[in-house]
Amino acid sequence: MKAVRLHKYHQQPVIEQVPEPAAKEPFDVVVKIGGAGVCRTDLHIIEEQWADKSGVALPYTIGHENAGWVHAVGPGVSNVEVGDTVILHPTPTCGLCHACRAGNDMHCESSKFPGIDTDGGMAEYLLTSARACIKLDPSTQPADVAALADAGITAYHAVRKAVPLLYPGTVCVVNGAGGLGHIGIQSLKALTATKIVVVDRNADALKLAEELGADETVLADGKHVDAVLDLTGGNGAEVVLDFVAEQGAQQDAFAMTRRNGSHYVIGYGSNIDIPTIDIISTERNVVGNLVGTYNDLVELMVLAQAGKVTLHTRKYPLDAALDALADLDAGRVRGRAILTP
Ligand SMILES: [Zn+2]
Ligand SMILES: [Zn+2]
Repeated sequence: MKAVRLHKYHQQPVIEQVPEPAAKEPFDVVVKIGGAGVCRTDLHIIEEQWADKSGVALPYTIGHENAGWVHAVGPGVSNVEVGDTVILHPTPTCGLCHACRAGNDMHCESSKFPGIDTDGGMAEYLLTSARACIKLDPSTQPADVAALADAGITAYHAVRKAVPLLYPGTVCVVNGAGGLGHIGIQSLKALTATKIVVVDRNADALKLAEELGADETVLADGKHVDAVLDLTGGNGAEVVLDFVAEQGAQQDAFAMTRRNGSHYVIGYGSNIDIPTIDIISTERNVVGNLVGTYNDLVELMVLAQAGKVTLHTRKYPLDAALDALADLDAGRVRGRAILTP
C-alpha cells in the first residue's frame, strides 16, 4: 500500500509502497483510511520537536487524525465489524490502567499513538484497536470528519474542561481560528453562553470565525492585547483558549487573561515566560491540554452528526500530501487539510 513516510528529520516525507498491516492480536482492528487530517503536529514532527518524546524509529508513517471503514478485525473484537464506518480515538489504549479506568484515555500507561510513535494513517490502511473505534452512521463520509479525531477532540476537550468557568456574562478569547480554533468556536457556541472573542492574524480566518458565531473578532496586528482589554473593561477574559501558543502568541494570551482566569495552552512550539509573582499576585492559571478522552470524541460526534459542529476542509489525494503540508506551513489552508487515500 501507499504511505507517507518520514525518513529523516528536517526533510520532506516520502510517498512510497509499504506492506499492509494485519490484525494479528485479539483486539487489533485494521481500518481502510477514508480521511487523514494534516496537522501542525505533522510539521512539528518533521522539525524534530517530538523525536525525544515519542522515541519513534525512522522511517515511519505519519498521520494521527483518522477515519475510515473497518477492513479486518482480530478474533476478540466484538464492538465493530468489517465494513463499519468509524472514526478513531487517536490513542489505542490498554483499558486496564488507572487512567483508562478513570476515562483519561490520553494518560494511559501503555498506549500507542499512531502517527506519533507508531505507523499512522497517511496511508491506505492503519492498524488500531477495538477500544479506539467509534462507530458512525454509515452515511458519514470519513473525509468529512477525520480531523475531529485530533484537531476536533483537542479543541472540544479544552472547551469541555472550561465549561464550568464560562457562565453567562463571561468572556472567552479564542486565540487562533485555524484547524482547532474553528472547532473550538463551534463547541463554545454549543456548550456555553459565554461571549466569544476571536483573535487571529488572518482576516479570512476572522471572517470564518464570524460566520461560526464569534461575538467579536480582533486582528492580531500587534495592538490586539490592548484591543481585548478594551473589550473587557480593562480586565481580560475569564478564559483564553490558546490554539497558537508559539512565536509570542502564548505571552499575549496570558496577558489577555483576567485575574483568577485561566490560560488554556492547546497549541505549542515556544516557551512561556511568566514572572512567578504575576502568577501568585493575580491567581492566573496556566492549564495544559492533551488531545481528549474517548467520551469527548463520542460527544463531539453527537454535535457533528446534529450539524452543530462542522469542519471546514480542503481535500487532497494521498499523492498530494507534500502540497498539503506546504499549504499548511504557509498558512494557505482555511479550516483543515484532509488526505483522501
Ligand atoms: Zn493533530
Ligand atoms: Zn491504560
